[in-house]
Amino acid sequence: MARLFGTNGVRGVVNTELTVEMAVRLGKAIGTFFKERVAIASDTRNSGSMIKSAVASGLMSVGVDVVDLGMTPTPSMQYFVGTHDMNGGVMITASHNPPQFNGIKCVDATGRELTRKDEETIESIYSDGAECVEWNDVGVMTYDASATESYVNAVIEHVDTDAIRNADLTVIVDCANGAAFASAPLLLNRLGVRAITLNANPQGDAPGRPSEPTEDNLSDLISLVRSTKADLGIAHDGDADRAVFVDGDGNFVSGDKSLSIMARYISTKKKGLTVTPVSSSLMVETVVKKNGGTIMYTAVGSPAVAKAMFDNNAVFGGEENGGLIFPEHQLCRDGAMAAAKMLECIVKNGKLSKQSADLPEYNIEKRKIDCPSGSKDALLKFLTNVGDNIKKDTTDGLKMIYEDGWVLVRPSGTEPKFRIYSESKDKDVARQRADETEAKARKFLSSK
Ligand code: MG
Repeated sequence: MARLFGTNGVRGVVNTELTVEMAVRLGKAIGTFFKERVAIASDTRNSGSMIKSAVASGLMSVGVDVVDLGMTPTPSMQYFVGTHDMNGGVMITASHNPPQFNGIKCVDATGRELTRKDEETIESIYSDGAECVEWNDVGVMTYDASATESYVNAVIEHVDTDAIRNADLTVIVDCANGAAFASAPLLLNRLGVRAITLNANPQGDAPGRPSEPTEDNLSDLISLVRSTKADLGIAHDGDADRAVFVDGDGNFVSGDKSLSIMARYISTKKKGLTVTPVSSSLMVETVVKKNGGTIMYTAVGSPAVAKAMFDNNAVFGGEENGGLIFPEHQLCRDGAMAAAKMLECIVKNGKLSKQSADLPEYNIEKRKIDCPSGSKDALLKFLTNVGDNIKKDTTDGLKMIYEDGWVLVRPSGTEPKFRIYSESKDKDVARQRADETEAKARKFLSSK
């Protein structure tokens, strides 16, 4: 059957790709898979109530009791599931996608994202059609408004609250009018920082910035940090599982840099393994190794990172998009933990601008080329077989590893495109290797 779940659940444009009928049917399949009790939550999208109600109806029709947590961040739903007697959880969110999208994502009884194998089981139940229970066995729905507060309280236990409180910080947090509206002001208040919120309206159609926290989308946050002379700017994506930062000078800190700064901070405190996808900058590996830690690379996507962290008892993990994972709290991307830990890191290690400037310098070049989906495998095989004695890694796509850098070629999972990343200490070398790889790929594709 057709694949429903992508890297981050089922996503689509509401009422065309992601319909109520589909949500009910998927709810039935998810309920048949989990059985008994499932928690459900949504971000602030306008279609959230509609899709959530449909999934919940499907769940109850197969005999599952549903606990509705309301609007709360994805990691807050995950924390609730992991700390309550639940068989699983469902999040209604399309994370950073534009407002016309929504999505359905599942987590297991521990709150971790489902494995691909479990998703395939749900897809096959979806395809066969799940059986409803008798009228007197249908599930019931209850409401629990405590998830956000319990989550924030748990986050606070993992940082040095006194040190943060005593530092007298001013912080601007941009909630993207997303799920962070519920958690971020509460978190900052509990940490005793002077907090100014931006885009903290829980209406999906409130005017504000797009939910992807890129530098281009954060111009209001950047100017507010500058004009208020704040110590830090924090920006979340739509479901607040990610956080990126603006330093006290009002400069956007790239996700690679904030990941590296956090990896460096954690590795000075805890010896052990850091896990990150093959697409991450060598900055991460360099700072971790310098502190005596080890590094492991996984396929791209947070489920792969979280699984490797669990299997290998890692001390930290994360992605270059602001998705940071702190295993002492929970094994998933966690926007509030990332924000709280970054505040602690600044209090202990000094200004973010300084910490950012102290990172080893690497240059990354990113390209995207058109490639029909049917040619992706052949192109990957061709690129793997051409060439020389370079060290090659096929964890995800093809990574060619050089003394001073690497080139990664990866088919996009969602678009008819191929991505090329090239990183080196030397900008020209990075560009030249990207050029060469792109030329080889284009030549192969034009010969098809
Ligand atoms: Mg997200």
